[in-house]
Amino acid sequence: MKVLIINCGSSSLKYQLLDMTNETLLAKGLVERIGIEGSAITHEKTGRKDKFTLATPMEDHNDAIRHVIQALLDKDHGVVSSMDEIGAVGHRVVHAGEMYSKSVLIDKSVIKALNDCADLAPLHNPPNITGIEACQAIMPGTPMAAVFDTAFHQTIPPEAYVYAIPYEYYEKYRIRRYGFHGTSHKYVAERTADILGVNIKDLKIITCHLGNGASVTAIKRGKSLDTSMGFTPLEGLVMGTRAGDLDTAIIQFLCEKEDMSLPEIMNVLNMESGVYGLSGVSSDFRDLEQAVEAGNERAALAVKVFAHRVRFYIGAYIAIMNGVDAIVFTAGLGENSAEVRAIICNELGNLGIKLDLVKNKVRGKESVISKDDSRVAILLIPTNEELMIARDTYKLVNKLKRNV
Ligand code: ADP
Repeated sequence: MKVLIINCGSSSLKYQLLDMTNETLLAKGLVERIGIEGSAITHEKTGRKDKFTLATPMEDHNDAIRHVIQALLDKDHGVVSSMDEIGAVGHRVVHAGEMYSKSVLIDKSVIKALNDCADLAPLHNPPNITGIEACQAIMPGTPMAAVFDTAFHQTIPPEAYVYAIPYEYYEKYRIRRYGFHGTSHKYVAERTADILGVNIKDLKIITCHLGNGASVTAIKRGKSLDTSMGFTPLEGLVMGTRAGDLDTAIIQFLCEKEDMSLPEIMNVLNMESGVYGLSGVSSDFRDLEQAVEAGNERAALAVKVFAHRVRFYIGAYIAIMNGVDAIVFTAGLGENSAEVRAIICNELGNLGIKLDLVKNKVRGKESVISKDDSRVAILLIPTNEELMIARDTYKLVNKLKRNV
């Protein structure tokens, strides 16, 4: 079965088509600037060097999906000869509130549930829903599944998910820790068990998803026990442009001193903070590493603060799980920056965590990078959220077919 994976943002759409008989990627692409001037699609067929690009006005997500289908059917760059070859569609959805702890087949009740929790993820869920509805309009007979970023973290126990504010706010508004990047944390944890050849039920794993958005998760017996992102993706680690953990009194202080409104402050905390705000250079670690080499002290401080917070969470999660067997690095920065991994793992020998600086010189390739005598395995595992979404979709649709 061929499964189409859709990841819809407000003005962008990423897609992949996978053949699930052997889990191979057939094609992938990106539609950018949907509904704004300069819309374009870039499409790549696996094994072909040149990309297919088309700049054409696209008014909405329906237009975007139509162009995706055309690209998949294209006589030179296409990978299917008819739409009927696409057996299912898997949608990445950011927030399922407390509704779903697993991926689900999409029906009307799922769309309603997603609309009901749209205020929990106002930037993400509405475009996710738009993407689902656009696909349903164009492929009405094709079964579709929703795979949620929050689902994996629904096993976090109450003592880790409630905030110590009046309990009625949890009851009234469901204000609690949800956590994000769940599909990625789950994928790399499962790969860790495979690579180490140990049943995941016998492992305590700390997964560090370090991209532009970043989070750390404590995973015991295959279940998320705690994670650093919270009610929104703003909590936890210092990120590209997000502040991460913060004394909330700073918000009122800044409001008064800078005469800023709450939305303005929230914009500062989400878009102008993190390593970007600290360094004044960039949110991208490639630029920061260059700036550090050139002697920029604030860039150096930003990198140190980032690594300090990751170490802080690693320590906390060792305590929460009463130990750790494996620490995993993934996502853009975790997969590519030997430098940042080395700072994070520096001098943790007393905890049995010893990075091998030679093995650490690797980029984007599954590897064990700890010393042979390290009690804790340190791994680099490229994440693959799309494969995870495709697997869940494939499983759900096969089950549906068996039950029909
Ligand atoms: P997201 O999906 O959250 O946008 P990614 O997982 O794609 O983020 O990670 C993007 C980040 O990864 C970049 O902002 C950059 O900081 C970091 N990154 C990517 N490649 C490299 C590299 N070669 N060296 C250092 N950092 C890198």
